[in-house]
Amino acid sequence: MSPDVRVASMLAQGNHFVDPATGAIVPPIHLSATFDRGVGGIDYRRTENPTNQVVETALADLDGAAATMTFSSGMAAAVTVLETLRAGQHLVAPIFLYNGIKRWILRVSKLRGFTVSFADIREPGALEAAIVPGLTAMVWTEVVINPTCDVMDVAAAARAAHAAGAILVVDATFTPPVTIRPLDLGADLVMQSATKYLNGHSDVLAGSLSTREKNERWTEMEYVRMATGSVLHPLDAWLLLRGMRTLVVRFKQISANAMAVAEHFARHPKVERVSYPGLESHPAHAVAKHELQGGFGGMMAIEVRGGLAEAKRVAEAVKLVIRATSLGSVESLLEHRFPLEGDITPVPENLLRLSIGIEDSDDLINDLEQALATI
Ligand SMILES: *Cc1c(COP(=O)(O)O)cnc(C)c1O
Repeated sequence: MSPDVRVASMLAQGNHFVDPATGAIVPPIHLSATFDRGVGGIDYRRTENPTNQVVETALADLDGAAATMTFSSGMAAAVTVLETLRAGQHLVAPIFLYNGIKRWILRVSKLRGFTVSFADIREPGALEAAIVPGLTAMVWTEVVINPTCDVMDVAAAARAAHAAGAILVVDATFTPPVTIRPLDLGADLVMQSATKYLNGHSDVLAGSLSTREKNERWTEMEYVRMATGSVLHPLDAWLLLRGMRTLVVRFKQISANAMAVAEHFARHPKVERVSYPGLESHPAHAVAKHELQGGFGGMMAIEVRGGLAEAKRVAEAVKLVIRATSLGSVESLLEHRFPLEGDITPVPENLLRLSIGIEDSDDLINDLEQALATI
């Protein structure tokens, strides 16, 4: 796509796709598992697929990347990155981290013999202090961190990683490329669970991985994806491209709704704390404002007054908001995180994670009000 076309225009047109053979403006779903060796250069679907290539080109443009690979899930993308860590190397990540990835890091670091330090990034300088020059090979972070909604200064993390000879990997699932482009801020790799905002309709499982440069590590990850077969299914690729056409408007509406909800509950007698990057009361609001140029998104952590029992009661009392895992979709979802990850992260017992959707914000506020009234 031409560099002077803005992201909103590019996304609305599915990267201006026009099928050269038929003129169709929506790509076909190529289900073929194998390909005639003499024609298009693709050999087998476990390596590549023409429908996926359309999405990968769009994602590469969106991320400002040298190349993008899609995967069968966000976890498959993350696992592929972690597959490149060697015995004896060191990984640094925040204490709070998407729990599926933290569990995987804990598992493979033991199996493969690399070491890990988890930094409490709420303390200034903690990430930098955990990095060991010459030993740390990879710094892994999110931008808005799951589930506490702390905010990482990506540019500062990139400087710290590079000064020590490490690469920075950013899981930008909570903050899609319409609001931040981590590669522009110095990240070496950016991964997303495309299941979330990029697709946005809770009907696809997908991952993406974009790189600033095509290097040896990238070639190794291409091999890992091919060898393990963690490629995206072409139907999911097709749905993902369709979802991405409305990403800009969804993210705007979601951000506006989330701001209304966060402001309403920030000073509420049944609420101890609302962590939302858009609130001025958020400790890293200034960083968030600087790096999230297209909206603060829909993710927030609400700590209810009381403990485990009160949080459980509120989670069970919502009627409009759906009590379900996942995030980034058009419908609002709520989850009580402690029972799911309290064994590996110090997540507060009273924390409810909310993913705000595009419903009417007054309806969302009324529903959460009635749920809080049960405690
Ligand atoms: C959901 C999620 C993942 C994992 O993605 P899947 O598509 O569910 O495999 C990784 N990181 C974050 C921050 C997520 O929210």
